[in-house]
Amino acid sequence: MAKERRYLIAGNWKMNGQKKDGRALAKGVAKSLKKAKGKKKLPFELLVCPPFTLLSLVADELKGSGVALGAQDCHTAEKGAHTGDIAPQMLENIGCKYVIVGHSERRADHGEKDADVKAKAEAAIAAGLTAIVCIGETLAQRDKGQTLAVNRRQLKGSLPEGATAKTTVIAYEPVWAIGTGRTATPEQAQEVHALIRAELVKALGETEGNKVRILYGGSMNPKNAKELLAQPDVDGGLIGGASLKAEDFWAVAEGCM
Ligand code: PEP
Repeated sequence: MAKERRYLIAGNWKMNGQKKDGRALAKGVAKSLKKAKGKKKLPFELLVCPPFTLLSLVADELKGSGVALGAQDCHTAEKGAHTGDIAPQMLENIGCKYVIVGHSERRADHGEKDADVKAKAEAAIAAGLTAIVCIGETLAQRDKGQTLAVNRRQLKGSLPEGATAKTTVIAYEPVWAIGTGRTATPEQAQEVHALIRAELVKALGETEGNKVRILYGGSMNPKNAKELLAQPDVDGGLIGGASLKAEDFWAVAEGCM
């Protein structure tokens, strides 16, 4: 079933890869896309988000391939005394189109709160990037019946001011499904995506709210992708483990067809 919103299949490589791995993976992803592109217009956009150390190398490798490049985090400032941080302008300068903000691993490891995520998303957009804003409940919150309330609260707190479909993508990533091999059922995913959709329509208006892409993330793989991607408000995936093998990443993308 063709959807109005073009799917986004995004690979989050996390803290993985030496130069040779990054080069080989980028080559593999670009090769799959090249093979398929000759046939027909594809219903998805492909994106890879390597660690900072590999961004330049992967940018070179992907030149002209049609595979987009993104980063996994950014600072809120354009430049200055922020040791160890990277400005969104620096990312844009080396060819990034996207940046992930508020991933649950950053929320957990670095104490990032909704307000920080919102500020990062706004800084990213000001630099010309599209922000992929991550939200999602923990298992304890789901077990307490707080899933919808938590996602509503995180979305409201993290959504950048003046968000549009061009500048903002939302990723629903239930924390209990990330890297665990335990995936949300298509129904569980759609329930939260429908809530996000309704909140986006409230916040951005009918037209824009319906255009924003909402990705599912959490142990998406070649076996479960098609069913998840068939849900009406699942507009793509944020993929961790399965994005580290070009064939698996491509097989997930094929779930859009
Ligand atoms: C992620 O890190 O965003 C993710 C969804 O990881 P995995 O696919 O490995 O669960």
